Amino acid sequence: MTAAQEHKHEFERTVGPREEDLARCVHCGFCLQACPTYVITSLETESPRGRIALARGLSEGTIQATPNVIQHFDLCLQCRACETACPSGVPYGRIIEGARALVQSRPDRPRSWKLRSAVLRLMFAKKWRLKAAFSALRFYQGTPLAPIARRVLPRRLRQMESMLPKLPSRFFEPPVVAAQPSGEVKATVALLSGCIMPMTHPQTHEATVRVLARNGCRVLVPREQGCCGALHVHNGDPAAARVLAKNNIDAFLASGADYIVVNSAGCGSAMKEYAELFEGDETWSAKAHRLVDGVRDVTELLSEIGFVAPTGRVEERVTYQDSCHLVHAQKVREAPRQLLRAIPGLELVEMSAPDRCCGSAGIYNITQTEMSRRVLDEKMLDVMSTKCDVVSTANPGCMLQLDLGVRLNGGSQEVVHVVELLDRAYRAE
Ligand code: SF4
Ligand code: SF4
Repeated sequence: MTAAQEHKHEFERTVGPREEDLARCVHCGFCLQACPTYVITSLETESPRGRIALARGLSEGTIQATPNVIQHFDLCLQCRACETACPSGVPYGRIIEGARALVQSRPDRPRSWKLRSAVLRLMFAKKWRLKAAFSALRFYQGTPLAPIARRVLPRRLRQMESMLPKLPSRFFEPPVVAAQPSGEVKATVALLSGCIMPMTHPQTHEATVRVLARNGCRVLVPREQGCCGALHVHNGDPAAARVLAKNNIDAFLASGADYIVVNSAGCGSAMKEYAELFEGDETWSAKAHRLVDGVRDVTELLSEIGFVAPTGRVEERVTYQDSCHLVHAQKVREAPRQLLRAIPGLELVEMSAPDRCCGSAGIYNITQTEMSRRVLDEKMLDVMSTKCDVVSTANPGCMLQLDLGVRLNGGSQEVVHVVELLDRAYRAE
């Protein structure tokens, strides 16, 4: 089957939100104050309860997929804070993904949705395409053209350009075996290098490899792996996500690793949900279950295997931003804090709402820039109130967004992954 045929075949399996998920909502409203878009707009249609009602209407055919209705789904960050707040266990993430898939299956869906799907399918299907795009961007950033372009670009493009981080001079290019511990091997782990992270955060991957090796892990980086498909699922395109997931399932199972380690919360969450993606497909569902059993966020794994307490000092006041897909989707709240608290000299200062979204949300900051900025503004007020010099988190998208927040506020805070701080402590020994 060609890739296009496979996409078509997969798309035909697409379904909307499940009736049993929708039925769990008892309309109590406990989720409202946890929802960033409701808190900002005070509109029922921008709340989890309102969106669930719209998803039900769309699914039952009592509501039409008008641009207005679709915009309410578009404005959802898919942060899943409502899942944590909901006493009835409503799987909101699955509902919104189903609702979006329903919209995507309609031939009359908005052009912006068609374009988004096409770009995601095209750019994330092959690693070299993203690498080429980021190489071109890096070249652009290094030329005298960049400051001129910033003045003459149309407003929308200028806004997007300003969101770009300064790209590093080298990308992450690991050997197949990235690290071998000097002592006893406790576990063999395979690292998900991801789609854009090798280009935007090579230092995070390098720190992750060193920290894992220091903790007795042999680290592999399977070359055949690719994008995890998280953006595609969130965009209502599970068919494209399945194609990518199949590639990763094969690549990681073939590696023979005991664990699949992920240092990007959004990707880890998507991989932990691979089994749901293949429900009803006997062969792939069994393989997905085998993979999911071994998937761990890096902070989760270090906590689970009993990480070596560092003795090197990191004299910093640090605040921690929970990545939505780590805390709300994967329910990992304590492990990153445990690592930070174990670092001598480091003072962990909690924000008032560390598990409130920063507005990054995959490509939301590009597609819904205005709301994303409003959410980011709230987050930066919270960050500033801690008076910390360092903001740590566990997801590259959040790192980029918080970095943007620091720049927009004229701040000087450093934004780092938790594992980079642990790496600094080990290296200071
Ligand atoms: S996922 Fe986040 S933005 Fe969307 S409804 Fe739930 S809390 Fe609100
Ligand atoms: S999603 Fe949960 S918390 Fe929100 S209204 Fe429904 S049952 Fe209540």
